[in-house]
Amino acid sequence: MKALLFKGPKKIVIEEIPTPKISNDSLLIRVKAAFICATDLKIFRGERNVKQDIILGHEFSGEVIEVGTSVKNFTVGDHVSIYPIIADGTCDYCLKGFRNRCVHRKTIGIDLNGGFAEYFLAPKEMISLGHLIKIPENVSFEEAALLEPLSTVINSIEKIGVEYGDNVLIIGAGPMGLLHVMMAKLRGAANIIVSDLINERLTIAKELGATCVINPKETDFPYSISKHLNYEIDKIILTVCIPEIIEHLLSIIRPQGKITFFAGSGKTCFSNIDLNKIHYKELTLTATQSATLEQFKKGLKLISSKRLDVKKIITCSFPLLDAEKAFTLRNELKALKVLLKP
Ligand SMILES: [Zn+2]
Repeated sequence: MKALLFKGPKKIVIEEIPTPKISNDSLLIRVKAAFICATDLKIFRGERNVKQDIILGHEFSGEVIEVGTSVKNFTVGDHVSIYPIIADGTCDYCLKGFRNRCVHRKTIGIDLNGGFAEYFLAPKEMISLGHLIKIPENVSFEEAALLEPLSTVINSIEKIGVEYGDNVLIIGAGPMGLLHVMMAKLRGAANIIVSDLINERLTIAKELGATCVINPKETDFPYSISKHLNYEIDKIILTVCIPEIIEHLLSIIRPQGKITFFAGSGKTCFSNIDLNKIHYKELTLTATQSATLEQFKKGLKLISSKRLDVKKIITCSFPLLDAEKAFTLRNELKALKVLLKP
């Protein structure tokens, strides 16, 4: 089969490798849709280490084409999406439902072979943990492959607790920023302000529900926010990590407001902030990383009920053979979600 292997920073290659063979307790999936994530880009740029020769890709879906003799609940032809975490299921975090925080967590496409390939072997742990999710017919493979990024946004929105009437500032209008716009709208936010350096992205943010968009290249952001708006900002979500603006965000958010760090930085980064602002304003600073299985399933309900049209953040599509072109385009911020079709 053809697979995208990581060979080192800026070195990803499509190679012909043996198609994995199933055992009694595993099954084989023909990958139908896969997306490039910011984490894949960090790996591509050499900012995050993974094993050489690993198949990248953790946002994908496909069709079951071969089932091990002792596997129950799956049959050939099932459409599936992958909750890309292998957990032990027994540690304190797992028992509380936070398998994304499992002390023995392994991630598909980072620690184990992922979905940028023609076929994916779902290991027995994935099946027994319930991390292989059947997709109803009214959900496309593209939508199913977007469940993973959507679930991480659901985690973020739930953690910071976006509620009816909230004024929310979203930093960044990339794919994850835009999903935050859609989810904040769904949760009943009153005003959704979005900041980004790329005007085309801000236009899409408006179409998806942003009530105010700001390009810091064209205005003295973030000071201008307090001048322009006649309301307070309750919550701030950073979908891109910009240490230089944290101090300003502490100034413009209302007392008792909440700030969440959705995006990490590939490299170590530090920020000089006035801790007194956090104290005297009783601010909450929090963060999320990936999502729980429950949040993944909530995402599926929102997509299949047509409450969310996640396809709106897909801007282009490439065959797997053109993966390098797709990675470069995404890395240069010239596309939102880039679909790879193995
Ligand atoms: Zn665990």
